[in-house]
Amino acid sequence: MFCEGGGFPVSSSGIHVLRIITPQNNFHSMRLSSSVCQGLKALRNNVSVKFIFVTRVSKTCMSEQGITVKKEENFSEWYSQVLVKAGLVDLRYNVQGFIVHRPWLMRIIRSIYKLFEEELERTGHEPVLFPLVIPEENFEKEREHVEGFRAEVFWISEVGDGSEKLERRLALRPTSETAFYYMYSFWIQSWRDLPLKLYQSVSVYRYEKNTRPLIRGREFLWIEAHDAFATHEEALNQIREDMENSRKVIWEKLGIPFLFLRRPPWDKFSGAEDTYAADTLLPDGRVLQISSTHDLGQRFAKPFNVTFLDRDGQRKYVWQTCYGPGIWRIAAALIAVHGDDKGLVLPVQVAPIQVVIIPIYYKEAEKGKVLEKCKRLEELLRNAGYRVHVDSREEYTPGYKFNEWELRGVPIRLEVGVREVETNTVTVFRRDTLRKEKIPDEKLLEHVRALEELILEELKARARNYFESRIVRATKREEVEEALRSGKIVKMPFCGREECANNLKEATDGGKVRGTEIDFKEGDYGECAWCGSPAKQLVYVAKSY
Ligand SMILES: [Zn+2]
Repeated sequence: MFCEGGGFPVSSSGIHVLRIITPQNNFHSMRLSSSVCQGLKALRNNVSVKFIFVTRVSKTCMSEQGITVKKEENFSEWYSQVLVKAGLVDLRYNVQGFIVHRPWLMRIIRSIYKLFEEELERTGHEPVLFPLVIPEENFEKEREHVEGFRAEVFWISEVGDGSEKLERRLALRPTSETAFYYMYSFWIQSWRDLPLKLYQSVSVYRYEKNTRPLIRGREFLWIEAHDAFATHEEALNQIREDMENSRKVIWEKLGIPFLFLRRPPWDKFSGAEDTYAADTLLPDGRVLQISSTHDLGQRFAKPFNVTFLDRDGQRKYVWQTCYGPGIWRIAAALIAVHGDDKGLVLPVQVAPIQVVIIPIYYKEAEKGKVLEKCKRLEELLRNAGYRVHVDSREEYTPGYKFNEWELRGVPIRLEVGVREVETNTVTVFRRDTLRKEKIPDEKLLEHVRALEELILEELKARARNYFESRIVRATKREEVEEALRSGKIVKMPFCGREECANNLKEATDGGKVRGTEIDFKEGDYGECAWCGSPAKQLVYVAKSY
């Protein structure tokens, strides 16, 4: 058996839990005495490996098939269990921060990619694939950019047995501005070449100390779109389009609520004039940035010499934007926001299996007609374009199958038994509401079509109610502290000073000024809720990932 060494919580107080993953990828948790825990901590600090071999495990830690904690009570443990038990990731790969994406997760991720790619292409973007490596000379060109990323870059510096060093180091892309814009200086010559709107769907690499699957990785999946324009105004319109693209996919299609905020100047993307980012809220009261778009102004155009000959015969620098929907984190939010105590809950559109059909029979004589009906319904739905699966495994009971597909978030389950065969009906179960109803066979397709929308609406309504209930107004320091302690997002008048934001962060153990609403105009907003000096803005403050 192996234990996950990358992130098991070893603190000086509280209950120590060791997470264990068996070679069969079953997930177990066990409580540890603090002396055992200190021993493991020492071991982990001395040995730079992710996995610690555990030779003996007591029987009490062998866990049930389902999720053993409640999402609201222990989100962190719930999230870890769902990832493994629903078959999303395998954490046994032996490099910290690099995870194996299993088929169930990859199908969800590919659906999310597709939704974004369709929006991007509808709005004039084209796909490209740039090299994974960026030479150091490109990377060094924009000063703020390189400063911001320097500590996180993985470098390739040698080949073979190590005796041969590369002439120049190559960065594994942490983001690709300095790759794209190097080429843009060749591709953009005249106003006729603009706008240029390209995107790639790739993984990027950043050295992160603390990692968490789908939330913070050393390798993670995203989309990056890099656009160039003749005027700043067009670039600012692109920012709007990027936000609208995020809204259409993340909210409309996936039902994840978020706030799109203009980040304060000290929290911008390295190398940007302005950063706009979407924050959603996870059940532990911390916000997660899931998408961002940046007004790069001409900051990269100048060092990369991306210029065009304008209609007036003048050579000018282009105006640029870059947009990054965080596919990984959007998948994390999808899991965290909609999931419940039984596991994943997926909207129909992104579910790897949209309808699962469970045959129910107890005698061999019933088997034939039950299975025949299952096949018929499968064909009906498949021909209508649904991803359907008949779970005809004989080694498991219907009850076991119900639990398994509920854990994995399949939105619609059809139960077909002898009674359903005799009455020409089917029992339809909704994963989101956990309710069943009997539907006549001839109405089934129509019913499933309607459910697609109804399930999404239900998930959206629930998520929005929760999200909105977690945003509170505060005008005094005590109110800010209390709200952050109870896992809420605070909306408050703010003086606009970085020093005040730092002070707030320190005093509240991580409360961060996330920014203002996009169309916000500065004015007189009374007193800063934190320091009492004149407030110029209304900002959102929250603890974050
Ligand atoms: Zn202040």
